[in-house]
Amino acid sequence: MSESSAPEHLFDLPPEYLDQHLERWCQQHELPGYRAKQVRQHLIEGRIYDPEEMTSLPEALRQDLSTGLLRSPLITAEQLRSSDGTIKFRFILEDGLSIESVWIPTEDRGTLCISSQVGCAAGCTFCATGTMKLTRNLHSREIVSQWLAVHAATTAEGLCGVTQVVFMGMGEPLHNYPAVSRAIDWFSSAQGFHFSPRRITVSTVGVVPRIRELVKDHPQVRLAVSLHSAIPETRNSIVPINTRHDLDQLGEVLEEIRGESRRISIEYVLLPGINDSDEEAKALALFAARCGAHINLLPFHPFEGAPYTAAGAAEVGRFQSMVQKNYEGSVTARRSRGLDIDGACGQLVLKPRPDSPN
Ligand code: SF4
Repeated sequence: MSESSAPEHLFDLPPEYLDQHLERWCQQHELPGYRAKQVRQHLIEGRIYDPEEMTSLPEALRQDLSTGLLRSPLITAEQLRSSDGTIKFRFILEDGLSIESVWIPTEDRGTLCISSQVGCAAGCTFCATGTMKLTRNLHSREIVSQWLAVHAATTAEGLCGVTQVVFMGMGEPLHNYPAVSRAIDWFSSAQGFHFSPRRITVSTVGVVPRIRELVKDHPQVRLAVSLHSAIPETRNSIVPINTRHDLDQLGEVLEEIRGESRRISIEYVLLPGINDSDEEAKALALFAARCGAHINLLPFHPFEGAPYTAAGAAEVGRFQSMVQKNYEGSVTARRSRGLDIDGACGQLVLKPRPDSPN
């Protein structure tokens, strides 16, 4: 379906006017006003997003919703399960393109790593998604529906569903800010799904002007900055966006928002021989001190054609101690999840498949 012929979808509209959207839709379909309330109850209180399951509605109304205002903008094509419990979902969108989302269980939590774009234009050299280039931005309806679909699939298995959302899947979320912001509104607003904004993390490689917008529009959402080096020459070579929004600008904006209630973390993928020297560790500690961020070290996750090797536990430990020696804040090393299904950080990429054009 081309975008121009696609009917309006509720999740692309602002949630604060939910009642008005539903009432208007009922009027257009010559339905009594109480039907709007029923749809709202199913959707928001019951978290039922498939109109076919809104059993108190007449069949004709369910049909109309399924093909229009509440149609599903994606279908689940595949679920791959890791031995550590992680599940990678592949979804096919209305135009035949595909995206992936990853659900990661830890004790009583279920973290959804959500995608915001098909591919990514940022081109970080250690990331498989970056090799795809950008095909298109996702719509708000496609972002919200990843969450609803994964929550429904995991709770149906008796698992805890989605308790945290991290925008760390395919794409740079701040390159698609309007749709990401609208999706956050749907997740967290009083008129939407009441999901705590403190359970949402937006990860960015440093799109500085959009960081300012994000913190203004969503003051409680957490921010993760994919830094990967605090030395300009190194960062230019592995995170190309640094040539447009450099470390000085990034440090400045993080200093500005320091001390607000939000938690800031710095993500750092260790690339042996590239960004793991003592000099890099000291520069990282100095940068983190400007904004009081938590530092999260990540192993590199290999993908086909990648020019790097993964750091071993000893190399990660050595770098972690060197950073910690120079920094009073917290420094942790994150363990890999979903490696055996190519679902770990930086591994999301879509290989050509018979049912998908990309
Ligand atoms: S790390 Fe994030 S921003 Fe960089 S290429 Fe991968 S998906 Fe894009």
